[in-house]
Amino acid sequence: MAFQLPAELTQQPTPFYYYDLQLLDQTLAALTAAARPGNFQVHYALKANSNLPILQRIQQAGFGADCVSGGEVQRALDAGFSPDHVVFAGVGKSDAEINRALAADIFCFNAESVPELQVLNELAGAQGRTARVALRINPNVDAHTHAYITTGLDANKFGINLADLAGVVEGLDNLPNVELIGLHAHIGSQITELSAFANLSRKLNELQTWLEDRGHRLPHLNVGGGLGIDYHQPDQNPIPDFAAYFGMFEQHLQRRPGQQVHVELGRAVVAQCGTLVSRVLYVKESQQTRFAILDAGMTELIRPALYGSYHLIQNLTSQRPELTYDIVGPICESSDTFGKAITLPETQRGDLVAIRSAGAYGEVMSSAYNLREKAEAVYR
Ligand SMILES: *Cc1c(COP(=O)(O)O)cnc(C)c1O
Repeated sequence: MAFQLPAELTQQPTPFYYYDLQLLDQTLAALTAAARPGNFQVHYALKANSNLPILQRIQQAGFGADCVSGGEVQRALDAGFSPDHVVFAGVGKSDAEINRALAADIFCFNAESVPELQVLNELAGAQGRTARVALRINPNVDAHTHAYITTGLDANKFGINLADLAGVVEGLDNLPNVELIGLHAHIGSQITELSAFANLSRKLNELQTWLEDRGHRLPHLNVGGGLGIDYHQPDQNPIPDFAAYFGMFEQHLQRRPGQQVHVELGRAVVAQCGTLVSRVLYVKESQQTRFAILDAGMTELIRPALYGSYHLIQNLTSQRPELTYDIVGPICESSDTFGKAITLPETQRGDLVAIRSAGAYGEVMSSAYNLREKAEAVYR
C-alpha cells in the first residue's frame, strides 16, 4: 500500500515526526508471533526511539528493555518496564549510572571490560547487592554493514576480546558481588545478511562449551540486536522477516535445556512506523544541480549526513512529471543533504515531503544545532 499522511496532518506545522501506531502494533504482533515458538525473550533497544507513547506500547506488548545509559534505564522504568526486564549495556557506564541501576535491581548488566567488572563488584558490595552480569564478548564476526555501525570486530571498542576472555573469567573468582549469568554479543546494526547471525551463533556455541569446561553454566544467552529493515521499499516490506531472523538462532545456536535466549532489537521494531514530514522552502537551480531545500535538516534526521544512509523521499503534494533534485536541509553544513540526484515529481515551494523509515535513530539523534527548535512528534 502506498504511504498516506492522515488528512488532518497536512495542516500540521513542519517539520514533524509522524508515527503510525497501527504499523507499530502490527510489527509488535508479528514479532511476538515469531518469538513465541522458540520462546525467545525480546528486549527492545531504547536508543532507537525512546518516546514514551512508543515505549508504552512496546512494554504492553510484553517486551523488556535494553538500555545503554542511566537515562535510558530511568526512561524504561518510567515507561512501566519492570526492573527484572531491564538490561544495561555500554562500554562507559559511569559510577552514578551503575549505582542507580543497582538500586533499581535491574535484571542484568552487560559488562564490557575488566575494569568495569571491578567497579561493578565494588559498587554492588557497597550497596549490599549482587550485580547479575553477562559478559559482552567481541566475537570478531563481520556484520557486513556500515563501518560506523559494525561493533563486533576486534578493531571495535565494544566488548571483551576473545583473547582476553580467559583472564576475565579467572578474575571472576575475586569478584564476590558479581554473578555471571550469561554471555552477550551485539555485532552491529542494519544487518541484512542473516548469515552473520549464524556465524555469531557458532562463535557463541564454542564459547559456551569453553565456559562449561571451566565450570560455568550459563542460564542466559543474549545475541544482541541488529536485524535490518528495507529502506528502499518501506511500503512493500513494512515489517521485517522476524521468523527468518529467529530461525537462524533456532538452527545454529546450541541452546541448553531451560536456557533463555534474549534478543535486543531496536531498528527492526520502530524504523518503519516513523516518517519525517517536511515542507519545501525553496527550489534553487544552479548550472549543474537543482536543489529542493526543505525545512527539515540533519538536526531532525542525521543518518544521511552521519552514515551516508539512504531514506526513501516522496513528494506528497505533486503529481507532475518527474525531475531530478538534490534534497537538502537548511543547516549550515554541506553534509546536510538527504539525497543526491533523487527523482521526484516536479517540486515547488510549499510541497509536503515525506522522508520514510525514520522511526529508528531519527528523532533520538536530533540536535539543537543552529538553535533549531525540536520537531514535534505526532501519533496516529
Ligand atoms: C544499539 C544496540 C542494540 C540494537 O540495535 P538495532 O540494530 O537497532 O537492533 C542492541 N544491543 C545493543 C547492546 C546495542 O548497543
